[in-house]
Amino acid sequence: MKAEERAAELRARLEEANVRYYVLDAPAIADAEYDAMLRELSELEDAHPELRTADSPTQRVGAPAAEHFPPYEHRVPMLSLANAFGADELRAFDERVRKLVQTDVAYVCELKIDGLAIALRYRDGVFERGGTRGDGRIGEDVTANLRTIKTIPLRLKALRQAQGDTDAFEVRGEAYLRKSDFAKLNEARERAGLPVFANPRNSASGGVRQLDPKMTAERRLSFFAYGIARENGIATQWETLQHLEEIGFHVNPNIVRAKTIDEVIAYCEEWEERRDSLDYEIDGVVVKIDDLATQRHLGSVGRNPRWAIAFKFKPREARTKLREIAINVGRTGSLNPYAILEPVQIGGVTVKNATLHNADYIANNDIRAGDTVLVTRAGDVIPRVIGPIVEERTGKERVFKMPTRCPICGSDADRPEGEAMSRCTNAACPAQVYERVRHFASRGAMDIEGLGDVMAGELTSRGIVHDIGDVYALDAKKLALVPRTGEKSIAKLLESIERSKQRGLARLLAGLGIRLVGEQTAQILADDFGSIEAIGAASEEELQQSAGIGPELAASVALFFKQKANQAMLDRLRKAGVGMTAPKRARAVAGPLKDKTFVLTGTLANLTREAATEMIEAAGGKVTGSVSKKTDYVVAGESPGSKLAKAEKLGVTILDEEGLRTLLR
Ligand code: NAD
Repeated sequence: MKAEERAAELRARLEEANVRYYVLDAPAIADAEYDAMLRELSELEDAHPELRTADSPTQRVGAPAAEHFPPYEHRVPMLSLANAFGADELRAFDERVRKLVQTDVAYVCELKIDGLAIALRYRDGVFERGGTRGDGRIGEDVTANLRTIKTIPLRLKALRQAQGDTDAFEVRGEAYLRKSDFAKLNEARERAGLPVFANPRNSASGGVRQLDPKMTAERRLSFFAYGIARENGIATQWETLQHLEEIGFHVNPNIVRAKTIDEVIAYCEEWEERRDSLDYEIDGVVVKIDDLATQRHLGSVGRNPRWAIAFKFKPREARTKLREIAINVGRTGSLNPYAILEPVQIGGVTVKNATLHNADYIANNDIRAGDTVLVTRAGDVIPRVIGPIVEERTGKERVFKMPTRCPICGSDADRPEGEAMSRCTNAACPAQVYERVRHFASRGAMDIEGLGDVMAGELTSRGIVHDIGDVYALDAKKLALVPRTGEKSIAKLLESIERSKQRGLARLLAGLGIRLVGEQTAQILADDFGSIEAIGAASEEELQQSAGIGPELAASVALFFKQKANQAMLDRLRKAGVGMTAPKRARAVAGPLKDKTFVLTGTLANLTREAATEMIEAAGGKVTGSVSKKTDYVVAGESPGSKLAKAEKLGVTILDEEGLRTLLR
């Protein structure tokens, strides 16, 4: 294809992607695909400058503002950022900059919050108007919606009279949705039978651009400020961020000043590793020259300032073909639909399967077998199908129907009212037994070498093992029924079964497959209660006195011990000589919070629950699930639950995130 034709094609495709992404909040291609096309077009235009049109996507920002909002004119254009993929491109940026300014430069590194850019105008310290970026010159006036965002101050503190903060003053920053709020939002939508949102960015962007401010308020958006749009006597970006905080904005706390590009690279790499520890999505790092006079001197070219660059993390989304929708029967009998995909690389891993959650998820997102779909893989989470690319349909796609019988044992599968999952009604279903046995024998649990996927499959499908209790009734005669097993391997397996009896209470608990009880929870319960009998006898209230055990988890543990079949199974294990006790923990991490008990409630601005718990425990404290007279502190974030009220009633000390940090210091 000729360069001219290719450029025209890329321009058309980018144009369409822009509208879908910026205006409709429904992207149909992965960001990485978009970035690759934009880069290709930019390189084509560099090689053939005559192909560069003034309205090319390489020269323009975003997309035109939607017409149903009044226009918001930007006095200082809101630009995009050039991208750096990898350390080499950061070094190239640094070299370019130093050549231009002929001296050393210092940088400020900020997390690149994955939301949407917002401009806020204040007059005499009072919020007057706010708008989206739009095409960089004219955005959408969404003032009424922005007023509903609690972290946008309606009145500023400590204005700098002498330096031009009064009069008109414009702050820029990112509106975003916390991951925890996003999860709540989607849960509520799922319950209401509404389609779920693909990611926090799209729902934040859609939220800011609602026609009814009440709808915006429901999304519970947040805001981080990162810039001031015009000169006001402040000399550096670093001081700008400090000033923004002083006058009442939330500024992301994870910012650093870097003297060399090596420090910048170290920061970028660190945060690419740690991104999942935050309660908001970041898609990279923004590196800015600290000195504002130097920024002004460098100015911008086309759509990007020359004084900043966005380091982009590896993509976590890709598009591929969904070949088939299959069902896996879980330990509890749930029929879990999943996608069999044409293998695709995401973030350095080949992804072949992805979860589809449940029948509602598939229906609400209209996902069909044969569709081209967008798949995401974030952190350690199982890959997930986001949705179909409807334009790619050929008409041959097949609509999914949840089977009414278990695909493994043929028993009835039903979906209890109010539940999202269909379940196989047969507790002896080989698929369930298989999953339970495999899990019981796995590394994190009883670690029975030789009882892996294949052997567990053989034993359960041949009816030699019907439940976990049968594992300890295995002998050479029974094992000889499995084809291709020799004397030696049988002896070895029996030996490792014998050894597993001494794994201790925590590993046993982790292996029993109690809903919501993973390795960590099992360890905590074992440490706190010391024996399986004590756990079985504990009330839900008592269970909740243990670190990190909330009401749902406590109920699940209690339910497990209430069932006769489980008691019988435990009896068999006991008789076989499986160890069911643990030394009671001499809990003694020394630290400033030794012996202090904490309860967390609500969402903290910068810490996930896990991170806060880790920090408290590292300092010797303990985090429990419910407030009692024994609780020393309740840490309350935004929209706290009934725990806060209870703490107030009992007179327990209440802290916010800052208070917790002070205590930890
Ligand atoms: P950008 O996201 O690369 O960078 C600019 C934006 O970064 C700013 O507008 C601001 O919103 C944000 N930002 C976050 N934290 C910041 C901070 N601390 N300081 C300054 N800015 C900060 O540029 P863009 O032009 O908004 O969007 C391009 C991106 O959007 C690309 O990465 C592209 O992949 C994606 N996109 C995807 C599609 C698609 O169809 N999938 C379409 C269009 C754009």
